[in-house]
Amino acid sequence: MRDTKHQETQFTSVAHDPMDSRHHGSISIPIYQTSLFAFDNHDDFDQAMVNVLDHHVYSRGNNPTVLYLEQKLAELEEGEVAKCFASGMAAISSAIMSVIRGGDHIICTHQVYGPTREFLGSYLERFNIETTFVDGTSMEEWKAAVRPNTKLIYLESPTSAYFQLQDLQALVELAHSVGAITICDGSWATACNQKPLKLGVDMVVHSITKYIAGHSDCLGGVVIGNKLHIDRLSQNEYMLFGGIMTPQSAALVIRGLRTLPLRMQRHEESGLIIAKHLLKQAFVTKVNHPGLISHPQHELALRQMLGFSSLFSFESDEPVQKLREWANRLRYFKIGVSWGGFESLITVKAIEDSSLQGHHTLVRIYVGMESPEDLIRDMNEAWQ
Ligand SMILES: *Cc1c(COP(=O)(O)O)cnc(C)c1O
Repeated sequence: MRDTKHQETQFTSVAHDPMDSRHHGSISIPIYQTSLFAFDNHDDFDQAMVNVLDHHVYSRGNNPTVLYLEQKLAELEEGEVAKCFASGMAAISSAIMSVIRGGDHIICTHQVYGPTREFLGSYLERFNIETTFVDGTSMEEWKAAVRPNTKLIYLESPTSAYFQLQDLQALVELAHSVGAITICDGSWATACNQKPLKLGVDMVVHSITKYIAGHSDCLGGVVIGNKLHIDRLSQNEYMLFGGIMTPQSAALVIRGLRTLPLRMQRHEESGLIIAKHLLKQAFVTKVNHPGLISHPQHELALRQMLGFSSLFSFESDEPVQKLREWANRLRYFKIGVSWGGFESLITVKAIEDSSLQGHHTLVRIYVGMESPEDLIRDMNEAWQ
């Protein structure tokens, strides 16, 4: 039986949602699906408005679900503060913009992720910012590229086509000796397998879309570093470009994060099994995986990394068409971009640029969660 008071309370509870800071004991943080946070008292509101990043005022500032993820990611990376973005590229472009201004010079490995290369090499030219791309494996080239106006050494280790490393400690030393900042894209390794901040790198960026989210169902990016760097970036590029992570995406990422260390262990094992299998195949001329003894920087990998992931490539002298047809016949490997989810992926392309790595067919393999034995059988059966 309903009493009137109970009915009134029902109306009120629909219109008014009192926040329970204990979330009723909810074991997962709720999705705070809200654009703004309201105040009962104008003095509290005025006080919050002084620093909207430290108070819940507006979700293009902070949101409790996203904030929870940021704290987890900072902890995992062993950094002070993390800021999440709508995508890896939103994080990368914001991090870069936060440390440079017109007239500055940047040095970067020429193997860097394509859109990052485009941002540095073409887009930033509009603002009179020049980037020199170097062979990331050659300390001599990095040193020779330094200019009086070099403000940023942008790193991505390992890279995601040929899986080349950069000597992070040596490059941090070089950057700091000339007053430049370092940013490192660590998407391949994740914080489970590499901790660039501990090697002295100033800011780490990740495409959360890949391993961290881990289920191919959302996009995201993160920048992690000390409070000074991240506060400046949050007040400027984060707030002004507005490329924020939504609370729904944050909830998916938080869910993915719970199994990240477990998944990375599995990826490392399976990736190495498949890479070693390919190494023995007659149609494979070279396997690019930093976890293999045959990788020219394997020693450096053991020194600066804690483990390996499961994205790698192999080179072949077989015609590109033959490998494309092989890829078409694979049952478990799907043809597609990105990586880091449950499903194995493959892409095949012809490399014609002799200045890069010569003429060959490059096959990129992402080893997902399937059984490596099934994947090997799939590869063998599809090869005709
Ligand atoms: C995918 C990727 C990015 C960009 O991330 P998005 O989430 O797609 O914007 C950056 N760096 C690397 C190494 C990547 O693989």
